[in-house]
Amino acid sequence: MNELYQPIETLAGVGEKRAAKYHKMGIHTPYDLLFHFPRTYIDYTAPVMIDDAENGLPCAVRCTVVQKLAPSFVRKGFSLYRVVVTDGVSDMTLVFYNTPYTYQAMKAGEEYYAYGKITGGMLRREMQAPQVQKVESALLLQPVYPQTTGLTSAMMRTNIQKALTFLDRAPFETLPVDLRTGYGLVTLPEALHAVHRPESKQQLDDARHRLAFEELLQFQLGTLMLKHRTNIQHAAPMSADTKIDDFLGALPFPLTGAQSRAIRTICQDLCQQKPMNRLLQGDVGSGKTVVAAAAAAFAAKNGYQTVLMAPTEILAQQHLQTMTDFLAPIGLTPVLLTGSTKAKEKREIKKQIAEGTAQVIVGTHAVIQKDIEFASLGLVITDEQHRFGVAQRAALAEKGGFPHKLVMSATPIPRTLALIVYGDLDITILDEMPKGRLPIQTFAVTGGYRERAYGFIREHLDAGEQAYLVCAMIEESDTLENVQAAETYAEELKAGAFSAYRVGLLHGKMKPQDKEAVMAEMKAHEIDLLVCTTVVEVGVDVPNATLILIENADRFGLAQLHQLRGRVGRGSVQSYCILVTDSRREDARERLKIMSRTVNGFAIAEEDLRLRGPGDFFGHAQHGMPPLMQAAFCSNMPLVSETQMAAKQLLETDPELRSPALQPLRTAVLQLFAKNGENGLN
Ligand code: ADP
Ligand code: MG
Repeated sequence: MNELYQPIETLAGVGEKRAAKYHKMGIHTPYDLLFHFPRTYIDYTAPVMIDDAENGLPCAVRCTVVQKLAPSFVRKGFSLYRVVVTDGVSDMTLVFYNTPYTYQAMKAGEEYYAYGKITGGMLRREMQAPQVQKVESALLLQPVYPQTTGLTSAMMRTNIQKALTFLDRAPFETLPVDLRTGYGLVTLPEALHAVHRPESKQQLDDARHRLAFEELLQFQLGTLMLKHRTNIQHAAPMSADTKIDDFLGALPFPLTGAQSRAIRTICQDLCQQKPMNRLLQGDVGSGKTVVAAAAAAFAAKNGYQTVLMAPTEILAQQHLQTMTDFLAPIGLTPVLLTGSTKAKEKREIKKQIAEGTAQVIVGTHAVIQKDIEFASLGLVITDEQHRFGVAQRAALAEKGGFPHKLVMSATPIPRTLALIVYGDLDITILDEMPKGRLPIQTFAVTGGYRERAYGFIREHLDAGEQAYLVCAMIEESDTLENVQAAETYAEELKAGAFSAYRVGLLHGKMKPQDKEAVMAEMKAHEIDLLVCTTVVEVGVDVPNATLILIENADRFGLAQLHQLRGRVGRGSVQSYCILVTDSRREDARERLKIMSRTVNGFAIAEEDLRLRGPGDFFGHAQHGMPPLMQAAFCSNMPLVSETQMAAKQLLETDPELRSPALQPLRTAVLQLFAKNGENGLN
């Protein structure tokens, strides 16, 4: 058998222990290892002179060893190893802590590259814990891999080196040759070699371009194949004569034009032979729920059940309440099914669902996907908020025949990217806000205004309103740094500026039940000020919350700031968003100004795309997309449309990629989609 697909332990130098670490990263074979791509590269291509190095910034220096100083043992478990080097003009000392290996290998008179931060004055310059390579054998672009504890980049480089020799003995290719040459792409073995051992920036760029092309192509092929499969299934067509005037007449408000259009489109879809597969995209507060309720009313009048699934328990409860408000006037009684539904009640509800007396079922994803028998499931609505798993969508297709599907999302995504992320769906956009909304007032301020901002918040809390205070060091919500920052901040506020108020804390490392409990307290106004990391993004509706203050606002993407801001402005009282930043960077300030200027999520998403490139959208696990690692490095929009065209061309002649030349690609696509969901495309 091909060495590439043997267990990872067969690689020389990989023992049981290291293999276990690789397994943890999802790497089981040398083949997997080849697709474990570098996170970044240390650039030795432009070494600087020691005198020109900027203090405190990492740089590469080409230098010769002058003298190895005797190791000094500072105390038990702490030793210093120092080497004096020269670049021909100036000297500096390389300092290694507790790591004798590099020190021992270095020889006086020999030439090395050292990479690290140079500190100290003219007289005593030091590079702390540098990376060192011998000049003769140096990789000028040295890969740095995403790591796990106990597996260094150096170990991975060595193991990958070996795996590359296996590849040389049994090269493989996923793209058919005419496609590859037609788009000017290097071969897969070339790309894999170059991405792990680039000889030049050009070679690396070409490799990344090829890998990004393939990632995007596979993703688009997968979504288009899903779409094709939906189109050939048979759903239960509903009757075009169905009237929901009673439902519309009982609403407490007139619909917006966008809502009316969306309802009309959806009802038309429901009357088709093929299952609807539609995305309803609308900014927070655009009123998606009433559209969902209208669709449920339409289905119920046709004798079909509707399921509405929410990502969390508290959102499910919220939806039950709203759906009940909208649907009770026409005699429908939605039921709730979640993880905390008591066993006895659950049995009763399941029975109602099986008998068809429950026509609208609201619940959490996990619960509804489990062993529920439906009498006549006709429509599945998922409220994804911003999380969006393409494979979950595929999984659902099987439930109860082929029900119509409506996915609701509050993440505004620019059109060009929507084509990829939502390639298998038809898209309807709610691009109009209900009348009479007061736009949220947004201010960007520096830290110097913090005390005044606190005062402003206190005034509003005194008036019986509530506030969020988002405090995160970095964008990902549940890192330890963020949790600690939020905890410390909450303690400070409790002891100081907000000692007279009820201060709550919410962060990503809390158990789901605990998070929900805190959000429930917030909803019940048992908390005045909620200090949180970015987890608060999930679409919980607390109309009484009118203020959100976001610390380190410059560190977030615009799309995320917009999502966070959407936590307020949900009631009839004027709401405010205060963005705090001490960044002096021009681009950071420009981004925050955009936030103050516009409240339109789509305009903001377009700006974000323009300013940060598509990498930000693809790189983000938030969308529940397969990680398009290489695409994230390509700030290359034409690639998006190019791969879409290529995908369409391939599928036009061969909708299931059955021809022999396409087998490797087909396998790769199936794997990509299987990896990301229970069911996927198979
Ligand atoms: P989202 O799209 O964020 O899910 P919701 O469906 O939760 O928005 O609606 C937000 C709020 O706006 C709700 O309180 C809802 O009752 C209200 N709403 C929805 N449509 C209209 C409308 N056409 N006119 C006035 N208020 C509306
Ligand atoms: Mg909603």
